[in-house]
Amino acid sequence: MRTRFIIGNWKMNKTATEAGAFVRRLTQELPTLDGIQVGFAPPFTALHAAHQALAPSSAFLLGAQDLYWEDKGAFTGEVSGPMLKDIGCQFVLVGHSERRQYFGELDSWTNKKVQAALRHELQPILCVGETLQDRDTEQTDLVIQRQLRAGLAGIEGQSLASLTIAYEPVWAIGTGRAALPEQAIPVHRMIRRTISDMSRSSESDVGQRVRILYGGSVTPQNVADFLASEEIDGALVGGACLDPVSFATLIMDASESKPTKA
Ligand code: PEP
Repeated sequence: MRTRFIIGNWKMNKTATEAGAFVRRLTQELPTLDGIQVGFAPPFTALHAAHQALAPSSAFLLGAQDLYWEDKGAFTGEVSGPMLKDIGCQFVLVGHSERRQYFGELDSWTNKKVQAALRHELQPILCVGETLQDRDTEQTDLVIQRQLRAGLAGIEGQSLASLTIAYEPVWAIGTGRAALPEQAIPVHRMIRRTISDMSRSSESDVGQRVRILYGGSVTPQNVADFLASEEIDGALVGGACLDPVSFATLIMDASESKPTKA
């Protein structure tokens, strides 16, 4: 049974002061969470304030938007797994398309970052997705399989089964043009097949145990359409997670929606 997961990616938004106010408002709107995991990923500078604003028993998970693969040393500007763990993070995004597009992130780096996250008991959320050109030239499967095989090289069995992947078509991120569920579902299935192929475990259902979120212009209005499919285990949300009331509505819609389609 895969637990559904909704993650808010704040990107480069909110100061530490704003983060504290956001978390207090969100937890007022949604004091309890029912049957669904919810997390948010503030910028590094707001992690401490967000953590402080959460009640110790809060079910909300705190995450970072990136990490560096070395634990410490002369790597100016970088932040490591132990630093994130110490500040209260439970998960970390890896390989977001904006990191790939604007900061030249390579698949070989995402692999080192996933390994570093696992080493420090941070749940890595590996982001994969095709550009519009990839889709138009029917390269979607090839591109995503390359991102998965390279990004998850050396990870086997149980670790592979416990991963969370975010399928985020690049053309849907921040554009207001979400994929249709009929476009996302075949890609989620292909991701499961690829992970099963990659698994060296004798258990054949590794792909079925991996959690796969959809990301790209998810809103309170369309989140239930995605979660109506049992292939889609949650959402990675950018723009629609920045307002606490709208994010709370999105979470409620997600937690009330039950899968009705395969
Ligand atoms: C994202 O940043 O991962 C994302 C999906 O953004 P948006 O929801 O704004 O498309």
